[in-house]
This record gives sequence, structure tokens and C-alpha cells, in this order.
Amino acid sequence: QHHSWLQGQSQVFSPRMLNYSSDKLTLMAELRQAIADNQLALYVQPQIDMKSRQVLAGEVFVRWRHPSRGLMAPSSFLALAEQTGVIYPLTQWVVREAVAMIATLEQAGLNSKIAVNISSKDLLQDELVDSLEFLFEKHKVKPALLMLEIKEGALSEAPDKALATIQRLHRLGVELALDDFGTGLSSLAYLRRLPIQYVKVDCSFINDLHKSDMHSAITGAIIDMARNLDLGVIAEGVEEVEVEQKLLRMGCTRGQGFLYSRPFELSGFAVWLKQWQQQPKGPTAP
Ligand code: C2E
Ligand code: MG
Ligand code: MG
Ligand code: MG
Repeated sequence: QHHSWLQGQSQVFSPRMLNYSSDKLTLMAELRQAIADNQLALYVQPQIDMKSRQVLAGEVFVRWRHPSRGLMAPSSFLALAEQTGVIYPLTQWVVREAVAMIATLEQAGLNSKIAVNISSKDLLQDELVDSLEFLFEKHKVKPALLMLEIKEGALSEAPDKALATIQRLHRLGVELALDDFGTGLSSLAYLRRLPIQYVKVDCSFINDLHKSDMHSAITGAIIDMARNLDLGVIAEGVEEVEVEQKLLRMGCTRGQGFLYSRPFELSGFAVWLKQWQQQPKGPTAP
């Protein structure tokens, strides 16, 4: 019973539920329904090659248009969704929308990958890889156009199972990035076990990179390490031109952040991409 609850397939009572306030239980019941009722929305933020000004990808973020609470950020429901198993149906919804968007962009002749955040709990789901394979076939989309972002700490919970899923995802051909990098305790040995292509340096180091010697030292170390392991580096939370310029000097060319765009509704991505292609924001745009 405990098992099926974790898998998010059933409403079977679990002793763990005793810890939840009725408010939280209500919210999770509502979230299950919200997935079916199309109350979830995806926002997207472009990822830029800061040197060539090309758009490399769009990272999607889930939002919940709650009928009475308004637009909810993931921080207000994701942790609970992970604890109660609602995360997997949510992830399935996100991935379906994301792969459909990749197909739409391809048909419009716009080439941008889509990046999706997945939870450590999703890596324990056997059917994750099969359902992705099904979606790629259905939409005739190349798996390499999807990037999955996994948090640095994701392997700590069920290392063998999670690692096995990551290896299957790699064999399927999707790109993999380690998110929020620098906030966990990854060793080089750990990183080398993972078939990932990118690490994403956490916003907390990037935001004030131009002002903090400590954060530049950490970011510099991550960039060097990544180079030695043949991994790409993506800086998240680029808000100011000074930060962008400093990253370029440090040898990091991929960035995303408010400097280029705040996250906006995914349905507007194709139009945004066309506008950007005609007139990218210059390296020293105000
Ligand atoms: P993340 O994947 O590390 O995403 C970056 C977060 O920073 C996003 O917040 C984004 O809106 C925000 N951000 C982007 N640029 C800037 C910037 O220049 N400055 C600052 N201060 N923030 C910036 P958001 O959308 O609230 O998402 C928070 C976290 O929730 C994400 O962190 C990710 O871990 C998780 N998340 C979001 N959507 C999903 C989803 O569909 N599934 C899963 N499993 N997790 C998701
Ligand atoms: Mg937020
Ligand atoms: Mg992310
Ligand atoms: Mg992050």
C-alpha cells in the first residue's frame, strides 16, 4: 500500500498522511484534479548562447492557475506533490506538453530545444522512459531535442534505481543536465558516474557574480571542473550585463536569466523566438 501511494496511482491511506494538515491534503486533492482540469500552465525561459546570441533552448516551469488562490509558483506546491506522489502525474503532463511544443517549433522551422525539470521521485518510476519513448514516436521528435534537468541531490535517495533510470534516459538519447549545481555535495567521482552533458550553476552564485569574490571563485571552480570532465556549463540567474560579461571572460557561454527574459507563457514561445532571431538583444543592451 505504501508502495502504491508513493507511485501516485491510488488514494490508499498511508500512515505518512497523518502528518499532513487537512489544508495540505485538500491542496493535493485539488492538484490531482487540476491536472485533469487543465489548470496547470507552462511558462518558458530562453537559454542563450551569450557569445553568438543564439537561443539554445527554452526551459519550462510549471505554474498552477488555482481558481481561488490565483497563479501559484512551483515552490508552493511541488514539495508536497513530491511527498504525496502527485508529482509523477504532474511530470507526465509537463513532458507531454513539452514534447508537443518541440514538434510545433520544428514545424515552424524554429530550432530550439526544450528543457524540463524532473523530480528525483520521477527517476523511481519504471515507466518514465517508456512514456518518453512513446511521446517521441507519436510526435516524430528527436529525443536529443529534449533536455531533462535533474537536481544535483537527486541520486541520494535511491542511488541505484535513480542511476539506472538516468542511464536508460541517456541511451534513449535525451540530453541531461544537473540542476542547481554547487548547492549539493557532488564529488568528481559521483559526477563521472553520470552520463550527463551539462551542469547548471545555481542562481545563488550567479546573481551577484560581479560583486562577490567567493561566488566568482566557486563559479570559476565549477567551470574548470566541467571543462576537465568535458561537460557544458549553463549559468542560471543572469540578471545584469556585468554578470554576463564576467561569465564570458570566465569561459562560460550559456546563460539564462531576467537579463534576456523573464519566464513567459509557453504558447508565446514561437513568436518570441522569431522576434529574437530578427533582433537579438545585443551584448551590451541596456
Ligand atoms: P530551477 O529549475 O532551478 O529554475 C530556476 C528558477 O529561477 C525558476 O523559478 C525561474 O523562474 C527563476 N529564475 C529564472 N531567471 C531568474 C533570474 O534571473 N533571477 C532569479 N532570481 N530567478 C530566476 P520557478 O519557476 O519558481 O521554479 C522554481 C523551481 O521549481 C525550479 O528551479 C525547479 O526546480 C522547480 N520546477 C519548476 N517547474 C517544474 C516542473 O515542471 N517540474 C519539476 N519537477 N520542478 C519544477
Ligand atoms: Mg518562482
Ligand atoms: Mg531547472
Ligand atoms: Mg536551478
